[in-house]
Amino acid sequence: MEYVVCDICPRQCRLKSGQTGVCRARQNVDGRIVLLTYGLPCSVNVDPVEKKPLYHFLPGSKTFSIGMAGCNINCLNCQNAEISQSGPLGLPAYELPSGATVAAATERGCPSISYTYTEPLVAFEYVRDCAEAARRAGVRNVLVTAGYGTPATISELAKVIDAANVDLKSIDDKFYREICGVNSVKPVLDALNRWREAVVWLEVTVLLIPTKNDSDKAISDLVNWVVANLGREVPIHFSRFFPIHRLTELPPTPIETLARAVEIANAAGLVYAYTGNADVDGGSDTVCAGCGEVLIRRQRFSVFDNRLQEGKCVSCGRVATGVWR
Ligand SMILES: [Zn+2]
Repeated sequence: MEYVVCDICPRQCRLKSGQTGVCRARQNVDGRIVLLTYGLPCSVNVDPVEKKPLYHFLPGSKTFSIGMAGCNINCLNCQNAEISQSGPLGLPAYELPSGATVAAATERGCPSISYTYTEPLVAFEYVRDCAEAARRAGVRNVLVTAGYGTPATISELAKVIDAANVDLKSIDDKFYREICGVNSVKPVLDALNRWREAVVWLEVTVLLIPTKNDSDKAISDLVNWVVANLGREVPIHFSRFFPIHRLTELPPTPIETLARAVEIANAAGLVYAYTGNADVDGGSDTVCAGCGEVLIRRQRFSVFDNRLQEGKCVSCGRVATGVWR
């Protein structure tokens, strides 16, 4: 029987007529791959941009956040399994054609739209169309993604995306096999490099899972890769794990582990290392890489002091890397 290859992600699902891919959102309909969630986000919220997390991109702004059902990886620790690991059928959804999404963002005073909650690469056609419409309206686009896409998908989105927070779970294939159900981290590393070349604003999130990716060596290998490939000024967020979904036998990440990760990142040369998903004193503050002045104070997802002046440190004048307005 004839099949069609879905080339949106490295899984390259071969779909016979009527079959749906691993992501559950893309189907072979009469020999053509159709996105079942086109214009149909199941999650719609106005969030602080800090929640994505993006700390060096329009701080203190709201972002119109949408998520479409389905995901192309199957993390044991998925935080949104109800929507990511289920098909779109049977889940309630909002009807939001791309133009309506942009209008909704503008009406709510959001200078950006975030494609988030699940894997936006899966909803490629809808994300692209929303992002193009947003660009025309002067609204920016944020991708919150695991980056597991084909070069073509990644490159196409680079044309319309302003910022991305990429979940880099590990740089070890074994972790991706055991925890995420995919063969290799390479497509994710390639995506990061590709977006960096395209000058998409990047921040990296690393969820530290006890015994899985939280050893000194694992952290050090990862941050060394980041420094070598993305540079010293890419913000990195070490996020706290809580037992969830199919990884309930492990304890939450100890706070000390998060602090240790920040130390390792700083020692490797990264100048903006943060902790997330945890109350760590000063862990979310942006500190000047030149003089140590606290430039932006944050608590949870709120900014309550921003002392940057035209993107520079108020004390020493050093440029803080980011998209500040
Ligand atoms: Zn300074």
